[in-house]
Amino acid sequence: MKFELPPLPYNLEALEPVVSKQTLSFHYGKHEQAYINNLNGLIIGTPFETMSLEEIVKTSEGAIFNNAAQAWNHIFYFNSFAPNPPKGPKNKLKKALEEQWGEVETFKKEFEKAGAGLFGSGWVWLAKKQDGKLEIIQKSNAGTPLTDGYTPLLTFDVWEHAYYLDYQNRRADQLKALWDIVNWETVEARYL
Ligand code: MN
Repeated sequence: MKFELPPLPYNLEALEPVVSKQTLSFHYGKHEQAYINNLNGLIIGTPFETMSLEEIVKTSEGAIFNNAAQAWNHIFYFNSFAPNPPKGPKNKLKKALEEQWGEVETFKKEFEKAGAGLFGSGWVWLAKKQDGKLEIIQKSNAGTPLTDGYTPLLTFDVWEHAYYLDYQNRRADQLKALWDIVNWETVEARYL
C-alpha cells in the first residue's frame, strides 16, 4: 500500500458537539480510508505510483484524480480543526482577511454562504492566489484550488456525509458551527 490513512491530530470525541464521534468515525475511518484504498488500487502499474499525493492531484484526471483529491482534501480538512482552538485569526492573516472583506465576521458569513449555496457535493475553500490576495472558492465533487496553482488555507466539506448524521439536511448549521473548532494557528501557518 503506497498511501496510508494518516492519524488524526485529536481523538474521535474531541470535536464534540460540533462534530460527533459517530460522524468522525465514519467520515475519517470509512470515507477517507475508502478514497485512499481506491487510489492505491488505481495507481498500480501507472506512473502515479512513484508520485506524491499532491503531484497526483495536480497531474491526474478521472477516477485517479477524484480519489487522490478526495484523499488530499480530507487530510487537509481534518488537520484544520482542534478541540480548543484560538478564538479567531490573528496577525497577518487577520489583516489579510480584513483587507479583503472588511471584517473577519463578514468573511465568515461569505464563506458560509458559498458553502451553503454550492449545489450538490463539494468543498468551499479559502485560498491565497498567486498575487497574495485571498479568495473564497466553491469546488464541486473532489475539486481543490491546488489545481489552480493557489495555496489552500481552509476548507469546509459540504458533502452530505460530512454532516448528515449530526445535522441532517441543515448544511448551513454545520458550516456555522465549524468555526468553533477551526485551528486558526494552522490556517495562519499555511498563509505565511
Ligand atoms: Mn468528506
